[in-house]
Amino acid sequence: MSNALGNHILVEFMGCDPHIMNDVSSIERDMVDAALKAGATVINSTFHHFSPYGVSGVVVIQESHLAIHTWPEYGYAAVDLFTCGEMDAWISFDYLKEQFGAKNYSALEMKRGAVNLLTRLDIDLSSMRTKAAEWVNPEMYTRNVWFTDKDENQALSLRYTGEVFYDVQSPFQRVRILESPKYGKMLTLDDMFMTTEADEFHYHEMISHPALFTHGNAKNILVIGGGDGGTVREILRHDGVEKVTMVEIDGEVIKACKEHLPSIAAAFDNPKLDLIVGDGIAHIKQAPAEAYDIIIVDGSDPVGPAEGLFSVEFYRNCYNALKPGGILVAQGESPKFNEHAFTELNVTLQHIFGKDNAPVSLFYVPTYPTGMWSFQYGLKDGRHPKSVQETEAIDNFVSTKGLRYYNADIHHASFALPNFVKALINGK
Ligand code: SAM
Repeated sequence: MSNALGNHILVEFMGCDPHIMNDVSSIERDMVDAALKAGATVINSTFHHFSPYGVSGVVVIQESHLAIHTWPEYGYAAVDLFTCGEMDAWISFDYLKEQFGAKNYSALEMKRGAVNLLTRLDIDLSSMRTKAAEWVNPEMYTRNVWFTDKDENQALSLRYTGEVFYDVQSPFQRVRILESPKYGKMLTLDDMFMTTEADEFHYHEMISHPALFTHGNAKNILVIGGGDGGTVREILRHDGVEKVTMVEIDGEVIKACKEHLPSIAAAFDNPKLDLIVGDGIAHIKQAPAEAYDIIIVDGSDPVGPAEGLFSVEFYRNCYNALKPGGILVAQGESPKFNEHAFTELNVTLQHIFGKDNAPVSLFYVPTYPTGMWSFQYGLKDGRHPKSVQETEAIDNFVSTKGLRYYNADIHHASFALPNFVKALINGK
């Protein structure tokens, strides 16, 4: 009979692989396996990935818990192995040391709840026993693995199943396909949510149809980015479109989405599509003048490969490549998440296209931090989206094509801006 209620091993794992230290699903799996290898009964696991990096999590076992907090930037993990009963937590220790590739470590073992220091209370345990007896071993423990996309002040967390369907570090970014019980499979790039099966249509219908109905006769369209394929899928719903050129810098994104997000990557084999794997910034620089009716910049956030997609030079080149009457649409960030990038982009577009030719449309994407997102326009002497009156044609198209977000009312409503957004873009 042990003279302590529990055994606690405090572990410092150092010199670990920073990528492993930042991989919430493999850490969750390793921590659960570490418990199972030591003969524990797992009740549930709750793990959280913090962006830009770091993981915290706990595995609750019938024999107490295993917990971890990682600092990938130091290759360091603080691990708690708290057990009671006959379980030998050193088995878990050895397994985790192996899995994390710890080059060195320290471990402090201490007895918890020294029985001789405790007084057993004379209470009727039967009620507790009946309560415990009511507990049915779920056989399958519940997994709570959370993914958080955040900046220094704000975050959006999604629970996901812990399954990783695709995980490749490309020359440009980390491309992953994960699955969330609520939003289905989702694409993340460098740990930022890009698109999910359940709400992608919000984004892809609003980046395409307002511009196509505003232009009214677009034949030749350029898409920069858009590697998930949702934007070209929507554009090619318009029979009048003759050619779409798509320039996506990262072939891994296209591959991942073709394999795991086929409902989004549905139009990659369309004969009207000319798919180029290359840098959109270089492509537009050498594009012929007045070549395109519409240019859509479906880029990721202004970091990494997409940084240049927010530059003055890039949008000046877009202007030159647009035909007179042409329309530019750009993923415009959020007036409530990264106000600076949002405002700067509109100032750039006003500067190049003219003060009244850079309208903003707002729409909602539940899996983007704050949910409020924007597309920003550049009108090259073309008509303003607000002047579109073809309500019947739009709603016929909407019902024929089975659209789930865009319609004639939303078309106009999306350009009606709250005062604080007007103030942001008018520099007030
Ligand atoms: N909906 C997403 C958002 O709002 O962040 C964007 C989705 S789409 C997946 C963004 C794509 O832009 C990515 O596939 C990324 O590889 C691509 N991209 C980033 N920089 C690029 C560049 N310079 N040229 C072409 N594609 C680029």
